[in-house]
Amino acid sequence: MKQHTLEIKGLVAAVGGKQILNGIDLTVRSGEVHAIMGPNGAGKTTLSSVVMGRPGYEVLGGQVLLDGEDVLALPAWRRAQAGLHLVMQYPSEVPGVMLADVMGEAFAARGRSTDGLAGVLRSETEGIGFNTALLDRALNVDLSGGEKKRNETLQLAMLRPKFAILDELDSGLDIDALRDCSRRVEALTNDPDQPLGVIAITHYNRLLEELRADHIHILVKGRIVAEGGPELADQLERDGYEAFASPAELAADDAPAADAAGAYDDLFAL
Ligand code: ADP
Ligand code: MG
Repeated sequence: MKQHTLEIKGLVAAVGGKQILNGIDLTVRSGEVHAIMGPNGAGKTTLSSVVMGRPGYEVLGGQVLLDGEDVLALPAWRRAQAGLHLVMQYPSEVPGVMLADVMGEAFAARGRSTDGLAGVLRSETEGIGFNTALLDRALNVDLSGGEKKRNETLQLAMLRPKFAILDELDSGLDIDALRDCSRRVEALTNDPDQPLGVIAITHYNRLLEELRADHIHILVKGRIVAEGGPELADQLERDGYEAFASPAELAADDAPAADAAGAYDDLFAL
């Protein structure tokens, strides 16, 4: 069994000239599932983007080490080759490009044989409950939210990265699609050859019913404010983020700070 480590150390980053991540430490090993939960605007998407190397984010400090090697200097495609994979909150539509072609290119870039690719693609497609007829459509074009996430999960299963970051895999998909996708990811984490390590960003416990988290981290305002086992997600469900941060910390930045506590009451008055 291949064992790998992804270490995020003291990561500080900005986007749009504003510091969003204020020192993140997180270590994930092969086969582990770490859930990151946090309110809107906490910096969850920023964290996933910075780790994956999406352009437009400024790293101000810290390291992201894959098996001890800092990947922060590498462009996103090199990080993907090294074994990192991001499932985006809002998957992009790519007109004119077929999934089979993308997989072929990705296999070639990783030095993997494309022999039998079509067969594996077909069986993975059926396995995830994705209509094989949709394989003939351009990537994610005209797919429903659930179909897009099934499509993304299918790519993850084909590519077999060392680590996957799932940015709200549960957003925009129905219960059936959520179950199929989270179950498939859970199976990948138990792969005997190379168990997938996962950072699962989510608002809700429901994702974690099938994808069993070993560790939960609560992110508020670019900082991890609490860490624990699966019971922490239950506590969060019960008590809300208020139990982990002050109303001022939870208020959106664009809300008037002085009204932070009352902002919720006034929601419909805006
Ligand atoms: P989350 O995913 O936890 O909801 P994000 O990482 O998307 O949070 O956003 C964190 C903060 O960074 C928010 O205040 C958001 O407005 C800001 N932000 C995100 N992307 C940009 C950007 N491209 N330019 C300016 N601000 C941004
Ligand atoms: Mg987000």
